[in-house]
Amino acid sequence: MSLDPTKEFYREVLDNGYVKMLDVMGDDSSPDTDARISTGAAARSEDQRTTLIRFLLRHKHTTPFEGSVMKFEVRAPIMVIREWFRHRTFSYNEESGRYKQLDPLYYTPEKSRVSYQAKSNHQGSGELHPEAASFVVQWAEEQREFEESYNTLIQEHNVARELARLNMPVSHYSTFVVTGNLLNWFRFLQLRMEETAQYEIRVYATAIFDLARQYFPRSFEAFEDYWLEAVSLSRREVELLANMISQPITVECFAGAVPAPSPQFTKRESEEFRRKLLRMGLLKEA
Ligand SMILES: Cc1cc2nc3c(=O)[nH]c(=O)nc-3n(C[C@H](O)[C@H](O)[C@H](O)COP(=O)(O)OP(=O)(O)OC[C@H]3O[C@@H](n4cnc5c(N)ncnc54)[C@H](O)[C@@H]3O)c2cc1C
Repeated sequence: MSLDPTKEFYREVLDNGYVKMLDVMGDDSSPDTDARISTGAAARSEDQRTTLIRFLLRHKHTTPFEGSVMKFEVRAPIMVIREWFRHRTFSYNEESGRYKQLDPLYYTPEKSRVSYQAKSNHQGSGELHPEAASFVVQWAEEQREFEESYNTLIQEHNVARELARLNMPVSHYSTFVVTGNLLNWFRFLQLRMEETAQYEIRVYATAIFDLARQYFPRSFEAFEDYWLEAVSLSRREVELLANMISQPITVECFAGAVPAPSPQFTKRESEEFRRKLLRMGLLKEA
C-alpha cells in the first residue's frame, strides 16, 4: 500500500535526525480480517472491529497484529542506533561507512539536556549541570576535530574508508531503514517511550508513534489503553494495596462507577474488571 498524501509522513528529530515513513501495509480492519480466519465469521461493523482490536490487545492475543507492516527511514546518532538494533524482530538495512564517506553530521545536545549523573538511577540523568554550555561547545569542537582527521585520512592519504572512521564518535549520525509488523512496533514503543528509556531514543519512538497512529488509530488507542498506560501490580503490591484500603468497594459503588457498555469499555471488560477487584480483595460482594 502506498502512503496517504493527506497524512504526515516525516518528523525532524534531535538536531540533525529524522523519521520518514516509507510504506504501510494494512489498516485498522486488518487485525479483524486476519482474526476472522479462525471462525470464518462474516465481515463486521466498525464498532465490532474496535471491540475486537481492544479485546485482542487486552488479552495479548497478538498474532492478528503481525499482518500489518510499517517501514521507516531513520537518521539517528550511532548511540541511539545501538539501542534500537537491540530490537531483534525488526528487519534493518544501514548505510555503510565502507562504501561511502559518511556525511559530517553529529549530535550535540541542547544545553537544557546536559545534566549531572543521576544519584538513584545509575542509567539516567539528574539535575541540570551549571557548566552545560561549555560542554556543548567542547563536544562540537571534538566532533570538528574528528571530522577534519577523517577527511584528511581519506582525501589526502587515501586511507580506506573502513579504517578512516576508526575514532568516529557515537554522536555521529547514520541512516537506516527499519521494517516491522505492528506487534514489533508496539513492543519497541512500549520499551522506548517509557520514561526510563534514554531521552534521545524516546524522541524517536514518540515520532514513530505519532506518524504510525494516523494509519492505525483504533489499534494505537487500544495499545495506549492496555499496554502503554496500563499498570501491572506484583503479588506483594496487591497485598499492600488491599491492606491500605480499609473499606472494600461495595457492589453499589462498583455499579455506579462502571460506565454504560461501549466499544471503549464493553460489558465483558467491566466483568473482567469486577473479577480483578475480587481477586485483589478490593470488592465486597453482598
Ligand atoms: C530502559 C532500557 C535499558 C536497557 N539497558 C540495557 C543495558 O544496560 N544493557 C543491555 O545489554 N541492554 C539494555 N537494554 C536492552 C534490553 O535488554 C533489550 O535487549 C531491548 O530492550 C530489546 O528488547 P527485546 O529483547 O524484548 O526486543 P526484541 O529483540 O525485539 O524481541 C522482542 C521479543 O521477542 C522475543 N525474542 C526475541 N529474540 C529472542 C530470543 N533470542 N530468545 C527468546 N525470545 C526472544 C522476546 O519475547 C522479546 O521480548 C535496555 C533496554 C531498555 C528499554
